[in-house]
Amino acid sequence: MEDVMDKATTGPISTRKHGDVLIVLSNNPPVNALSTPVRQGLVDAIAEAEADESVKAVVIACEGQTFFAGADITEFGKPPMQPWLPVVVDTIENCSKPVVAAIHGTALGGGLEVALACHYRVADKSAKLGTPEVKLGLLPGAGGTQRLPRVAGVKKALQMCATGNPIGAKEAFDCGLVDRIVEGELIPHAVGFAEEVRDVRPLAKSSERQDRMADLDRNVFDEFRKENAKRFRGFEAPLKNIEAVRVATQKPYGEGVIEERKLFMELMGGEQSAAQRYFFFAERKANKIEGLPEGTEPRPIRKVGVIGAGTMGGGISMNFLSAGIPVTIIEMSQEALDRGTGLMRRNYEASAAKGKLTPEQVENAMGYLQPTLDFAALADCDLIIEAVYENMDVKKEVFGRLDKIAKPGAILASNTSYLNVNEIAASISRPEDVLGMHFFSPANIMKLLEVVCGDRTAPDALLTAMTLGKKIRKVPVVAGVCHGFIGNRMLMPRQIEATKLLLEGATPEQVDRVHVEFGMPMGPFQMADLAGVDIGWHRDPKRIETIRDALCAIDRWGQKKGAGFYDYDEKRRPTPSPVVQQIIEDFAKKQGVERRDISDEEIVERTLYTMVNEGAKILEEHVAQRASDIDVVWVYGYGWPVYRGGPMFWADSVGLPKIVEGLKRQEERMKPDFSFSRLLLDKAEKGEKFTR
Ligand code: NAD
Repeated sequence: MEDVMDKATTGPISTRKHGDVLIVLSNNPPVNALSTPVRQGLVDAIAEAEADESVKAVVIACEGQTFFAGADITEFGKPPMQPWLPVVVDTIENCSKPVVAAIHGTALGGGLEVALACHYRVADKSAKLGTPEVKLGLLPGAGGTQRLPRVAGVKKALQMCATGNPIGAKEAFDCGLVDRIVEGELIPHAVGFAEEVRDVRPLAKSSERQDRMADLDRNVFDEFRKENAKRFRGFEAPLKNIEAVRVATQKPYGEGVIEERKLFMELMGGEQSAAQRYFFFAERKANKIEGLPEGTEPRPIRKVGVIGAGTMGGGISMNFLSAGIPVTIIEMSQEALDRGTGLMRRNYEASAAKGKLTPEQVENAMGYLQPTLDFAALADCDLIIEAVYENMDVKKEVFGRLDKIAKPGAILASNTSYLNVNEIAASISRPEDVLGMHFFSPANIMKLLEVVCGDRTAPDALLTAMTLGKKIRKVPVVAGVCHGFIGNRMLMPRQIEATKLLLEGATPEQVDRVHVEFGMPMGPFQMADLAGVDIGWHRDPKRIETIRDALCAIDRWGQKKGAGFYDYDEKRRPTPSPVVQQIIEDFAKKQGVERRDISDEEIVERTLYTMVNEGAKILEEHVAQRASDIDVVWVYGYGWPVYRGGPMFWADSVGLPKIVEGLKRQEERMKPDFSFSRLLLDKAEKGEKFTR
């Protein structure tokens, strides 16, 4: 294509002419974020197109890996700079010549708003389009909620705005969001398209279109809300997104954008979005390793070994197989090996049945798996993850064998939930290669990965585990060695107090309800029933020292047995159990615990405030690098509601003096299990916060 450069540019936006089409090109690596110079450049380019009579149509395209992928996150929280995005998009739409967006990579957020303002959209076949604002507790605020339903239809707009999940080019074409899918070179095709439409009038202004609103089923909003009730539970932003789209169906664009702005400002000023925006940065920060010596490089990982094909080993392996990294998996018996690998295949096939994978991808992934009973097959692995029983002697025995056969420099990781990684490391000749890689169950799905750094773990081993964690699409967080690391350690005070509360007069339903109303996916007793009440049980039915012992002794092991803290029907629906209630009351009597009414507030103070206190101890002891890492662990590992930011951010929002006050109120009842974190007391006294 022979193009004429119009003018020398220093900014991210340049223009060049191809025949009578003005190509407006953005070059703002890495993702063509819509920073101030980009926005200004777009406005200037439209002015240039208007001023030049020889220009008959405009193409807006991006260089590099993607179309505009959203706002410039470095401008977050700063005073907005002119020209605002709403002005930019209106300028584009009001251009008197047809404007065509040429989309490749991801058109997200503000990027999609730009595309929507164009009169036409052509997209590369691998492009993705989306409005992820809801994930930051916001909504598309430059007219997006008003334009999108007019272009893509109300249902699709609801889906995109309220879930924030992007759609592919094909889906975008099918709903009318994209006018043409391009295979091959995008810009020449977009220019060709612009030439085809250069004389079409009137211009298809998205804000004025009504064709997609005709014969709208008014129930669509209620139905959508109902269908997604579980997913949106507790969140404000999805509902405001739905409301904004509904406005688009009732009011002309000019009035709609005023409503949209109002809803946007409500979200922007609210606590949920503040928490979600905080969390966005928390997640990115978690990836940074404090004090890593300069020049540290990760070790290459070409092949992974996994020991144990049980609940965790299988799931862990799947992460690597899905990323195309070969895995050798070891078991003690052929039967256990077959059972483990069979389950992996069934999990993959279930994903394929849901359309998430193609049958070919399933075969590819399974093709990377080498199941064997021969320990020596681990000799060429660069990383070996042990996922055998949670028992120090068994772990040490496995590591002792690894010490003999693993190649020099291989990283030796344990998936232990609680055990002392330093002790495991000290038992072999290469402690610098040992660390913890603590996956969460189900390991092929849960995003969190605690990378446990021992006292003697080499910096490059730590960096390798963190880098690899990202590669297999986990959210890795560095943790130090202690009982339960970050997440499980904080679970302990919660569990202790929750159980004591039962004896003092609360019911499992009440404790769980408080947690669910708070936004957790389930409460402590629902979680115990799901994970197995028998985990960690001593297996002696005659030795009954706790409520748990009593439940295990009568086979109430949780959901898997149809009974635990709750009774379950055949569909695993829980109901309160009179048997359990009797056990609790008998225990209370035996231990001389006086029963009384327990308020919801006390449950919050004793189970959630205590977690904050434990989090503060974790910080004090440098088990976590930073408070925000603790929040990442809880959101990704345990389903803490992201709209509350995580336990440490939440504590800051509640106010540390109030947390301390609540804990002091409960201190007597919680002794001797509870002791204050010095850091929490200090911060509360000084008026400081953990996360801000
Ligand atoms: P599991 O009992 O389901 O699986 C353990 C497997 O290891 C069994 O299949 C067993 O046959 C095999 N095994 C034992 N010794 C072996 C050996 N010497 N060589 C080869 N294979 C051997 O247990 P799991 O739930 O998968 O837990 C494994 C580890 O992961 C434990 O340390 C546990 O604490 C940790 N973990 C578990 C969870 C969870 O929710 N289940 C979560 C995080 C971490």
